[in-house]
Amino acid sequence: MRLDDWQQSRNIEDRRNSSMGGGRPSFGGGRKLGLGTIVLALAAWYFLGINPMSIIGGGDILSQMTGDSGYSAQYETSGTVGQEMTDAEGQFVSKVLGTTEAVWTKIFQQNGWGTYPKPKLVLYSGATRSGCGVGQAQMGPFYCPADQKVYLDLSFFRDTGRRLGVKGDFAQGYVIAHEIGHHVQNQLGILNQLEQAKRSNSRQANMISVLSELQADCFAGIWANALAQSGNVIESGDIEEAMTAAEAVGDDRIQKSQQGYAVPDSFTHGTSAQRVNWFTRGLKSGDVHQCDTLKS
Ligand SMILES: [Zn+2]
Repeated sequence: MRLDDWQQSRNIEDRRNSSMGGGRPSFGGGRKLGLGTIVLALAAWYFLGINPMSIIGGGDILSQMTGDSGYSAQYETSGTVGQEMTDAEGQFVSKVLGTTEAVWTKIFQQNGWGTYPKPKLVLYSGATRSGCGVGQAQMGPFYCPADQKVYLDLSFFRDTGRRLGVKGDFAQGYVIAHEIGHHVQNQLGILNQLEQAKRSNSRQANMISVLSELQADCFAGIWANALAQSGNVIESGDIEEAMTAAEAVGDDRIQKSQQGYAVPDSFTHGTSAQRVNWFTRGLKSGDVHQCDTLKS
């Protein structure tokens, strides 16, 4: 992925070097993962109702608003916004975010959807407060519709993602583009519709989640298509990287690697084959109307 010609986005919110210790809880003592942190992680898991296993690797969407768990004050809630990133990882994420802004601004214009509202991307380390509850690095990247921000702990790209098969810069770009895909769904009112559908049809909730995730994959494909057309961003091997990542973060693949078998009923993101399929559909067509996972 060649990003030399790209400007950084001005919408990174950097909470990594905050005065409260990089966004980690300020109690529990020490820099190591203390018991307090683990309890908090489990509490977040419990209150958020999220199975970390189901979202790890593919990113997710924290659509449930949580009540104040009483711990919120312990977490970083803001960071510097609009600054240029000076570290390599920050610059990369900022430029990728810039590409998504350019791509979706154009698509919104072309479709008469008005101005694309650029989301903030929060870089944090360890744990942070989001409009959807406490974000934890273990969750993987996620999008919070309530505050319209993407949350990313870079350790995901360094550790977890790599272990799962998210390797290479374009694979990382795909993960970010997938989260931005959720933001686009939010702008188009699709997230709301899906949440309502889930509530009125709890037996199909998993299936509806899958359709939502596959659409975000298709939107990531749309992003890749636009970059492929705009010249020199995509290098040889990039698309394969994204495909490999999409395949690696399929629920069946993740479950098999973690528990040795796959349980289709518990899928919330789709199988590897489905994810590759929908990413490819966006990539080949470049047409957002091809991403209607609910209809197909
Ligand atoms: Zn997702």
